[in-house]
This record gives sequence, structure tokens and C-alpha cells, in this order.
Amino acid sequence: MKLQVVVLGAGFGGLELTALLSDAISDGLELTLIDKSDSFYFGFSKLDVLFGRKESDAVRIPYRAIVKPGVRFVRESVTAIDPEARRVTTDQHVYEADVLVVALGADYDFGATPGLAEGGNEFYSMAGADRLRKVLPSFSKGHAIVGVTSAPFKCPPAPSEAALLLHDYLSSRGVRDACTISLVMPFGIPIPPSPDTSRALLAAFAERGITYIGDRKVTSLDPARKVAILDDQREMPYDLFLGIPKHCAPEVVLKSGMAENGWIPVDKRTLRTKFPGVYAVGDVTSVGTPKAGVFAEGAARVVAASLIAEARGGGESSQYRGAGSCYIEFGGDRVGRVDVDFFSGPKPTGSFFEPSLALVEEKRHFGSSRRSRWFGL
Ligand SMILES: Cc1cc2nc3c(=O)[nH]c(=O)nc-3n(C[C@H](O)[C@H](O)[C@H](O)COP(=O)(O)OP(=O)(O)OC[C@H]3O[C@@H](n4cnc5c(N)ncnc54)[C@H](O)[C@@H]3O)c2cc1C
Repeated sequence: MKLQVVVLGAGFGGLELTALLSDAISDGLELTLIDKSDSFYFGFSKLDVLFGRKESDAVRIPYRAIVKPGVRFVRESVTAIDPEARRVTTDQHVYEADVLVVALGADYDFGATPGLAEGGNEFYSMAGADRLRKVLPSFSKGHAIVGVTSAPFKCPPAPSEAALLLHDYLSSRGVRDACTISLVMPFGIPIPPSPDTSRALLAAFAERGITYIGDRKVTSLDPARKVAILDDQREMPYDLFLGIPKHCAPEVVLKSGMAENGWIPVDKRTLRTKFPGVYAVGDVTSVGTPKAGVFAEGAARVVAASLIAEARGGGESSQYRGAGSCYIEFGGDRVGRVDVDFFSGPKPTGSFFEPSLALVEEKRHFGSSRRSRWFGL
């Protein structure tokens, strides 16, 4: 009997798990990978699209490229999850699993921030990034705000990157002096686990005249008056708003009874949920690491190691360390890096690597190595 694995969500977590299991135990594996989309894109591609560096079609990687022994990709929408029975219902079929892995990521609750959706003011979805990209060329003077509306949010460095890249974009058009840029963030410093990275970002903001407003969130927008309202009731005028919407677990997860306080709780070392044979990895969990692709794939590796060890009747399995490297676009065609470690010590730590051209290349390799490992491209 082959091991029946059902993986929900073909993002960072689902793709990494699928690739590792197929490589190691394809002979004894029947893995079904389910996603409602027809293609994958890296989160950081949204910044490329927003600032017109790439077209959205150019950054999409179609799932039909997945050809792996023991694996079947199906494009279906998950409509119900029964974690007790390890049974999944989609808009087309019902699946039963020996092992169920939930890797459905985080959705956005646009309605939670009044005014955000009406103006088309967010860049965290690909559609939103594409919309704002068309608006950017008409912004030549006035106030720009990059604003976070709620925590947790994906890729904590991304709002800082957006502010720095906006500076470059406006400078290249010769209109930077006519514009202000403010960044509203819910943290006191940009990257709390790494004071060095935060110092470097704050210095980069100061050099470029970007105003950092820490420990604050944008609670609503008034598109008629063109003001953003912060959680201390302060009103900030804007002519361009680049927003980060409130995040939430997908509706189907909330309905399944797996979530507590909005996200799926897991054992932070093993990624097991309280339901036997059911794991959860990535943004959909409350494991205690940031919502970022590197952490989703790190968690997937631990689940893969444990399933491979079980399939082989024992052997090495590993524990999740909550560690990962995040690349940070500093502008000026330079990329920095922060290596963060959430679980090894008593509190999270981070090491900073100065922005450089070498790290631009390393980030490119990060993307191309995943394209090759997950899609054979
Ligand atoms: C602007 C921006 C920049 C970023 N930059 C980085 C970066 O530089 N480095 C980094 O590591 N991370 C970055 N991220 C974050 C990263 O994209 C996410 O954290 C990562 O994709 C999470 O992986 P995941 O596997 O948990 O979920 P996802 O990759 O979101 O995958 C979830 C999948 O589930 C599918 N799905 C959801 N609901 C259903 C359903 N009902 N039925 C079927 N399928 C469903 C979705 O279609 C999706 O494909 C960035 C994000 C943004 C927005």
C-alpha cells in the first residue's frame, strides 16, 4: 500500500514538501497536491510588478510544469476540511489521506480596513500590485504613504523595501523632490529581531528623506478626503497609498475548526496539529515565525524528514529551528540579507549582511533554485 499524502496549497510550503517526498520515497507515494490557482509566483515578484520591473505574466510559473514521480497536481478549490477523518472536499472531488498537510497560506481581509479596497490601494495581492503599477506613473507630486494596517503580515521587510524602491522609482522620474514618502509600521524598529538590520534600514530611510512612523497602524482611509487615519487618531494626507492589508487564514480553514485565534496551532518542533496525521506549515499557522516563504519551506522540510523517516521504518528526522534568511531590497540595485533564528535561544536573534551586488546574485539564485527544484525549470 502506498502512502496517501494530500497537500493543500502549492505555495512555498506545499511545493517544498512535495519535491522532497517525491525525491526520496516516490515508489511508495501517492501524493495529491491541490491548489485553486493555475500558477505560482514568488511574493517578492509583487515588488517587481509594482515598480514596473517585470510584467505579472512574466513572473507566473504554471503548475502544469510539475512532473514528479508519485505526485499528481490538481487545480481545485478546497471547500471543506475534516481534520478528524483526514478528509478533504474540493469543488470537484473528495480525498481521503493517511497524511494531510495544510499549507494554504494567508488570505487578505480587505474589508477590515475601511477605504482600502475602494481606492485599489494595496500591493500585497498580485492584482493589487498590477493595479497600483498603472497608478504610479501619474503620481508626480504630493504625499506617498506605505502603510501597514495590521499584524501579523507577510514578509516583515517588504514595506521597508517598498518605501526604498519607491524612492528610486520617483528619483528616476525626476520627481522625488516634489514628493514625500512615509512608512507606517506596527513595530518600533523595522526588523525587531535584528537591531543591526533595523539600524541600516533607518539610516537608509534618513539618507533618502523617508519618514519612519513606528509602533503605528493605519486603521482606515478616507478616499474622499484623501487622508489615512492611524490608530492614534492622527490623520495623514496622501496622494498615493501603498497598503498592506489585514491578513487572515483562508475561510475554509476557519470553517474546519482547526484554527484557534485565527491561525492553526502546531507543535513548533514537529509541525503536527492536534489531529493525528495532520500537519500544518507556513503562513496558515501560528508557529511563532514570521509569515515568509523561507519559513514555510523550512517547516515543510521538517515534515518531509519525518514522513521519509517513517516510510523508511526509522532514521533521521529533524526538529524545526525557526531559522531562515530574508533578502532585503535596499534600492540602488543593492540587496541586503538578514539571517533570523526564532527558536534556538531565549529570544529571536538576527544577523545582518550589508547590501551588495553579490547578494543581488544570491537572491536571484534563491529564486532559480526553487524554480528548478519545484518545477524542473
Ligand atoms: C510583497 C511581498 C514580498 C514578499 N517577499 C518575500 C521574500 O522576499 N522572501 C520570503 O521568504 N517571503 C516573501 N514573501 C512572503 C511569501 O510570499 C509568503 O510568506 C509565502 O508564500 C507563504 O508560503 P505558504 O506556503 O505558507 O503559502 P502560499 O505560498 O501563500 O501558498 C498557499 C497556496 O494555497 C492556495 N489556496 C488558498 N486557499 C485555497 C483553497 N481554498 N483551495 C485551494 N487552494 C488554496 C493558494 O492559491 C496558494 O497557492 C513576500 C510576500 C509579499 C506579499
